[in-house]
Amino acid sequence: MSPEPDTLEEAGRLMTICNACRYCEGFCAVFPAMERRRLFAQADLTFLANLCHGCHGCYHVCQYAPPHEFDVNVPKIFANLRAESYAHYAWPGFLARAFHRNGLFVSLAVALALALLLVLTFALQDASVLFGEHSGAGAFYEVIPYGAMVWPFGLVFAFAIIVMVMGGFRYWRDTAGRSGAGLSLPAILGGVWDVLTLKNLGGGGGGCTYPDENFSFARRNFHHFTFYGFMACFAATSVATLYHHGFDWVAPYAFTSAPVILGSLGGIGLLIGPAGLLWLKAKAEPAPQARDLLGMDVALLVLLFAIALTGLALLVLRDTSAMGMLLAVHLGFVLALFATLPYGKMVHGVYRFLALVQDAAERGSLH
Ligand code: SF4
Ligand code: SF4
Repeated sequence: MSPEPDTLEEAGRLMTICNACRYCEGFCAVFPAMERRRLFAQADLTFLANLCHGCHGCYHVCQYAPPHEFDVNVPKIFANLRAESYAHYAWPGFLARAFHRNGLFVSLAVALALALLLVLTFALQDASVLFGEHSGAGAFYEVIPYGAMVWPFGLVFAFAIIVMVMGGFRYWRDTAGRSGAGLSLPAILGGVWDVLTLKNLGGGGGGCTYPDENFSFARRNFHHFTFYGFMACFAATSVATLYHHGFDWVAPYAFTSAPVILGSLGGIGLLIGPAGLLWLKAKAEPAPQARDLLGMDVALLVLLFAIALTGLALLVLRDTSAMGMLLAVHLGFVLALFATLPYGKMVHGVYRFLALVQDAAERGSLH
């Protein structure tokens, strides 16, 4: 499912105007990357769209923005082109449709995953187990056996990672591959640094004009809470896996243990970050936004928030009779996240990272 010709044509038109104007060259990596080009083929536009962080900065300062007849709206056209590139690189092809009406798709996946977990738990477990109190090592697995928890989740997660890596390879071949930007260690490290610091959400140094024309670091800060919260939760799961298989230490773990501390910090980050990003999104000026794509952003943020909320509730109430239900609901949300990873907003992490690596490679080749 290739990007729409109209979207590519409009993105090319805007980049031609911007390349003559160049007023925004200090705002982000997009404009210097644009200036390294004279013509804008599909590969160039796809790269620039994925390099754009949607900060709205270039819209608020643009003397050619609507109602000017040039109708320059870079954040909006790049948001549309990004979403079309997500669908283009999705595999299998028929699931690319999931990017259309993505909010509905993710909601259905959540409903299905919750129903599956709850129906199976109720069908396979006696009510006295499900609503009983459990404590000590193996308490969670008395409600949902370890094998039933690990294997389905592991397989769905492995499938999601494979699909996302495949999409990343195909994207890189079509963009950096065509521009001749070579992969190198400095370029990869440059891309990693840009992801970790979100340098491009800093505008010219005073923050970006999001959600309105005032400069602010709010979006970068809430994104940091979300990203590092997610990474802390991932680290908690990894350490818990090591405990289980390496040392035969069976969950639940003490409040002072590494998995619980990491999971708690990650959970708090995933409450603050997504809630903050949703708040900013609700306040954001509509003109530079692609409103059709809001469902995709909102679906992921709500899902991450729900995972964090149920995870923290499970931690606090794990010694009570609410633990069984909370565990099934929490796992339902996690399963929905894993299943929709390659077909929702989460893929922006793959393509944005690769665009940042390509940008670092192109900058490196100039020196
Ligand atoms: S967005 Fe507007 S002000 Fe910025 S470079 Fe393009 S045309 Fe110039
Ligand atoms: S919206 Fe922000 S990140 Fe995107 S091109 Fe404009 S200034 Fe750059």
